[in-house]
Amino acid sequence: MKETLYKVLKSTFGYDTFRHPQEEIITDVLEGNDALVIMPTGGGKSICYQIPALVSDGLTLVVSPLIALMNDQVINLQELGVNAATIHSNVPQDQMQQIEENLNSGKTKLLYLSPEKINSELTQRYLSTLNVGLIAIDEAHCVSVWGNDFRPEYTQLAKLRTVFPDSSFLALTATADTATQEDICNQLNLKNPKKYLSSFERKNITTYSHSAQKRLDQIAHILREHTEDAGIIYCLSRKDTEKVASKLNMMGLNAKHYHAGMDAEDRYRVQREFQSDEINIICATVAFGMGIDKPNIRFVIHYSMPKNMEAYYQEIGRAGRDGEDSVAHLFASWGDFLMLKRFIDGSEGNQEFKRIQYEKLERMWEFASTTDCRTNGILSYFGEYRTDGCGHCDNCLNPPEKKDGSINAQKALSAIYRCGQSIGIETVIDVLRGSYKAEIRNRGFDQIKTYGAGRDIDRLTWKNYIIQMINKGIIGVDYTKGSCLTWTPLSTAVLKGEKKIKLADFVPSEKKVKVKKVSSSNIIVDDSLFGRLKVWRLEQARQKSVPPYVIFKNSVLEEISSVKPTNDMELLQINGIGDAKLRQYGADILRIVGE
Ligand code: ADP
Ligand code: ZN
Repeated sequence: MKETLYKVLKSTFGYDTFRHPQEEIITDVLEGNDALVIMPTGGGKSICYQIPALVSDGLTLVVSPLIALMNDQVINLQELGVNAATIHSNVPQDQMQQIEENLNSGKTKLLYLSPEKINSELTQRYLSTLNVGLIAIDEAHCVSVWGNDFRPEYTQLAKLRTVFPDSSFLALTATADTATQEDICNQLNLKNPKKYLSSFERKNITTYSHSAQKRLDQIAHILREHTEDAGIIYCLSRKDTEKVASKLNMMGLNAKHYHAGMDAEDRYRVQREFQSDEINIICATVAFGMGIDKPNIRFVIHYSMPKNMEAYYQEIGRAGRDGEDSVAHLFASWGDFLMLKRFIDGSEGNQEFKRIQYEKLERMWEFASTTDCRTNGILSYFGEYRTDGCGHCDNCLNPPEKKDGSINAQKALSAIYRCGQSIGIETVIDVLRGSYKAEIRNRGFDQIKTYGAGRDIDRLTWKNYIIQMINKGIIGVDYTKGSCLTWTPLSTAVLKGEKKIKLADFVPSEKKVKVKKVSSSNIIVDDSLFGRLKVWRLEQARQKSVPPYVIFKNSVLEEISSVKPTNDMELLQINGIGDAKLRQYGADILRIVGE
């Protein structure tokens, strides 16, 4: 059996090895067992049911609530020479007959269905006449009220167990805490399912956080490294989405805005243009997300800080669904933090609800300003603890230098104390830098001993130091009094020099973002060949009316440009080229490489 699995992996998908734990899962369901798979987006869940479908006699049903994703998978499979079909409310009636014929004759190996369709009694009666070997339920967390995406239709899927008593059930999701995992197994009536839990770590996403000064300029700099890539810029307000999009357009970039205030038609159009690679950049509020199934999103930028880590993780998770290298850039400012705090103040929840929201916001802010491994920050939030750095976040790639900051901390504390713990961060910096503002003079702050004591340090650096002190608990913030800075139980020891503290210097984003021309494999790419292959790919995609990544992923073209294969055998060595792709495109590629 093992041999067959590897053969199909190579000949159909063009891959040499399984990722952990794909092989165990596949073997398990082929033995007729049920299983629950929790694997991050881009981790490779689909192969866990696609290969069983290909190596067994029966039909595999795949349930998914995301129509665009189903369509995408079906096109991809067809390109790989696999007979797959989908049934959902948008499939025209005249196509149904052909689909049914292929199902009856056993030609179709995989059938994707929306939950509504598979719940319909008529469909169930029909499907039970076919030999259904495996039922895969994607986005399985939708069955649970504990998750964010509860869908009532999902709870009815439990009935499938009685309609298909002999089939194996495979539930898959990218997000489920322990309570949700239990819920999925119970609600779907899984029989002694083995649980396959992978780490939440998204290894293909490099994570950065930047101070938000001049964020538009910083974003422009980042985008210059992504001129041909697709990405999302998340903003907190509708106004910001429009402002950022128009600014990017003025810079000659291809961006559009998207928010819930636009009419449905405009929203749909923008989404479709993005999905089909006609526009590269969407500046959006969080309204843009549900149902975004574009696999080749290379960057997600947060123009402002999201309200909590769940939202952040979900939003950056839209990058790199295809498993290729992607980046996430977070811009966070003290102003964002205070604004989000005010949102919670003004929200309707009770005190307990608000307390939890404040805590979540604090964790988000700590994440944004930490000088330690950011991935570990995400993982620990979701209950996964480890100490080794990830190697794909800004702090791991470019560890900030931490120096003794005791003297500077004392200056700041002294200023806060002498001004009566009555001023916010900006005014504290004004005092430290000896500002001539009227407010400072009127309130007599120019008379205190610390006035001007920190002139040698620029505003941005001061702000960065003070925020680190807040995070370390050396400075407090009184949110009930205009967020003025206050004393904490730790302050005295630092001021008296009994406790030393280290502060990290601010690293501007231009220094952090290393230009990386090639993907994970560190291969040397022949740029002109790569460019020509891309032009050729676009042409193929247009002819077939599919997005370019369906023809080949970037990583495949990169490997071709590096290896420069000269015959079919060499082409088959390329990761991502199997028999069907070779048959369709092999001659073209060899010709282009030859030229
Ligand atoms: P998920 O459904 O978990 O988000 P996918 O199943 O779409 O992820 O897989 C993400 C990407 O990883 C796809 O492009 C897929 O072809 C690729 N992939 C999956 N398994 C392997 C493997 N064993 N070797 C190489 N690439 C793989
Ligand atoms: Zn790291």
